[in-house]
Amino acid sequence: MNIYDLTIHELKEKISAGELTPGEIKKAFADRINDVEDKVKSYITVTYELAEAQLKDYENKKEKMLAGIPIAVKDNMSTDGIKTSCASKMLENYKPPYNATVVEKLNEAGAVILGKTNMDEFAMGSSTENSAFFVTHNPWNLNHAPGGSSGGSAAAVAAGECAAALGSDTGGSIRQPASYCGVVGLKPTYGMVSRYGLVAFASSLDQIGPITKDVEDSAILMNVIAGHDPQDSTSIAGKKEDYTKYLKEDVSGMKIGIPEEYFNLEFDEEVKASVLAAVEKLKEVGAEVETVHMTDASYALAAYYVIAPAEASSNLARYDGVRYGLRSEHASDVNEMFTNTRHEGFGEEVKRRIMIGTYALSSGYYDAYYLKAQKVRTLIKDDFDRIFNDFDLILTPTAPSTAIELESKSDPLEMYHTDIFTVPVNIAGVPAMSVPCGFDSSEMPIGLQLIGPHFGEGKIIQAAYTLEKLLNINEKRAEL
Ligand code: GLN
Repeated sequence: MNIYDLTIHELKEKISAGELTPGEIKKAFADRINDVEDKVKSYITVTYELAEAQLKDYENKKEKMLAGIPIAVKDNMSTDGIKTSCASKMLENYKPPYNATVVEKLNEAGAVILGKTNMDEFAMGSSTENSAFFVTHNPWNLNHAPGGSSGGSAAAVAAGECAAALGSDTGGSIRQPASYCGVVGLKPTYGMVSRYGLVAFASSLDQIGPITKDVEDSAILMNVIAGHDPQDSTSIAGKKEDYTKYLKEDVSGMKIGIPEEYFNLEFDEEVKASVLAAVEKLKEVGAEVETVHMTDASYALAAYYVIAPAEASSNLARYDGVRYGLRSEHASDVNEMFTNTRHEGFGEEVKRRIMIGTYALSSGYYDAYYLKAQKVRTLIKDDFDRIFNDFDLILTPTAPSTAIELESKSDPLEMYHTDIFTVPVNIAGVPAMSVPCGFDSSEMPIGLQLIGPHFGEGKIIQAAYTLEKLLNINEKRAEL
């Protein structure tokens, strides 16, 4: 295997066996970026200066969890003095004066940060086509989208342009691109990973999580990034665990629910067959699988597309040209400056979300839309709680299809529909992972989603690890 194909745990083994040095590893990944970045276009910014500085510090960090491991970070996580654009013209030249907590944690753990990855503008989208700068291509087939909004992170992992990456997930943005790119993506329980320094999209839904080549790496990265942070008022104390202790092949007696209402939705037959075949494998090794009944996922989707835009319209009010980011040059007074800055700085989808959100929050419509959506949110959360009284996990497809072709979905509603299986999870605040389960007839990867109760990351990791060993497809890499 090539160095750039190796996982975090394999690279760590090679470093401790003296077979590779962190310098050699960094060079192998930088060469790989050089070779394939023209085709894939995962990165908005490569941060080799930072990487070199981190390498210099290796001797002080060599006992740490990610010492010498090349990691990529989505471009909505603040990096001190390094451009953090959110793939928006609004922040095209913005250099934050501080690091996000997750970036600090990567630093402390000895990681070597290779760059900031492409995304849908302000994380709004499902294909990375909403980046204001360029599109990212799926390493398995360059005519297809990598998914989104963390498409750059997922593509970089799948293409061997980093060992692992961080993404953010508001309605599926870690899991759906992981599924499209044949890698593992985990959205932690809301509050498990600090959001301090993550540029806010919808604050009650946003979570940062790992995108990795296998389940073991996901557990390792969670050990690094999870944990209480006093800088984030929604961060949870006292729940952090050693996630690697769940890396065992044992699902005997684990109760897994299959929601009939999800599988009855119309979606790709090859995806359905692959997910159900994986369910059979889990049964063979002792999982107790039963059909369960849940609220139709389309209610969650409708509620999400009111709540997320409402929060976004409030969060994005700060981009007014006064404090930081873009300021329009074409204005003769302050009101024109506000208007023109926002007109020039935001892309079409971001404007659409701001308008939907402002409308849903406005007097006279608040009760009909925002309040109603919040009530639906409570019902969905109750629905998950009810199932998790009797079940350890819920299993669904991650996305209704494999990676869509680039430029194939011009209707925003069609694009929103690709989030149907992932959005309910954010609405309920529970954790979920997308793990590869097969390939369709065009050799595009398929992912399935394991959903756990609040703080059920361990159980998810255990079932996903078992499945990964049973299916044995995690060493297959995209050819570029
Ligand atoms: N695709 C969804 C959206 O456009 C989710 C995005 C995300 O999780 N950041 O809102």
